[in-house]
Amino acid sequence: MQRLESTVSLAGGVTIPQVGLGVFQVPSAQAQRVVEDALAVGYRHVDTAAAYVNEAGVGAALRAADVPRAEVFVTSKLRNGDQGFDQALRAYDDTLERLGLEALDLYLIHWPNPEAGLWQDSWRALERLLDEGRVRAIGVSNFLVEHLRELASFASHAPAVNQIEVHPAFQQREVIAECERAGIAVEAYSPLGQGGALEHPMVREIAAAHAVSPAQVVLGWHVQQGRVVIPKTVSRERMVANAALAGLALTEAELAAIDALEAGDRIGNDPRTFALSQIR
Ligand code: NDP
Repeated sequence: MQRLESTVSLAGGVTIPQVGLGVFQVPSAQAQRVVEDALAVGYRHVDTAAAYVNEAGVGAALRAADVPRAEVFVTSKLRNGDQGFDQALRAYDDTLERLGLEALDLYLIHWPNPEAGLWQDSWRALERLLDEGRVRAIGVSNFLVEHLRELASFASHAPAVNQIEVHPAFQQREVIAECERAGIAVEAYSPLGQGGALEHPMVREIAAAHAVSPAQVVLGWHVQQGRVVIPKTVSRERMVANAALAGLALTEAELAAIDALEAGDRIGNDPRTFALSQIR
C-alpha cells in the first residue's frame, strides 16, 4: 500500500498523493460508501467534479470518515456551463457547499470549450481564489498544447496540473511534453482506458511475468513515469489492488513495450469541440 503514501510536488509548494480515487459515473448515493471504503483502505486523494453530480455523496463520506480533513486531498472541477469570471466564483462556492468543505485542495477548469471563449476569464477567477487563499492549488483539465501556450501568455499563475486522458492506447505525448516543459504535473484520467487497456495481450503478458494484475501493470507504467493516476472503481477489493504497486518495477523494455501500444484511441470527448454545459 506504499503507493498511497507516494506524492508528487506541484508548482506552488503543494503535494498531491500520486494515486487517488476517481468517482466519475458513481451516483451520489453510492459515492458516500465508495469514498468511505477508499478512505478506510488508505486512499487520501479523491477526484470529483460538479458535472459528476456526486459532490454531496463525496462530502458526506469525508465528514463520516475518521480521517482529519487536512489529510485528504480533494479535487473538483468547474463545469462548462459555469465558465466565466463571476460564474466561476459562484460555482466554486456551490461546490464547497455541496461538499461541505471550506476549501478545496485543487480546483480545475474541466474543459477548455474554446468555442465559448470563457476559459480565460474562468482562469482569472481561479487565480483570484488562489490569491485569496481560498483554494490550495488550481489547474486545468483537457487542455491541449495550444490552450496551455495561450494560458502561459497572460496568466499570473501557471496551472499546477493538467488532468488529461492518458492510457496505453492514447498517450498524448505532445501535451505531456508541453506540461513537462512548463512544470505542470500530469494527472492521467481514464488511466486504465476504462478497463480496455487491461485486455491487451502485451499487458497481460507483462502482468503474468510479474505475477500481478493487468491493472497493476498499467498503473505501474503511469506512476513509474511520474504521473498522478486516479483510477475509478466502486469495488473495495480493486481499490486495494490498484494501490498495491509498491514492489512492482517494470523494466525499460516493458515500459517501451507498453509505449508501443499507442493507437490514437481517444475514449472521451475531444477538447477542441466538447461544449456541453454538462448538466443543465
Ligand atoms: P478508468 O480508466 O479509471 O477505468 C474505470 C473502469 O475500470 C471501471 O469500469 C472499473 O470498474 C474498472 N476497473 C477499475 N479497477 C479495475 C481493476 N483493478 N481490474 C479491472 N477493472 C477495473 O476510467 P475513468 O474514466 O473512470 O477514469 C478515472 C477517473 O478519471 C474518473 O473517475 C474521473 O475522476 C477522472 N476523469 C476525468 C475526466 C475529465 O474530463 N477531467 C474524464 C474522465 C475521467 P468497477 O468500478 O466496476 O471496478
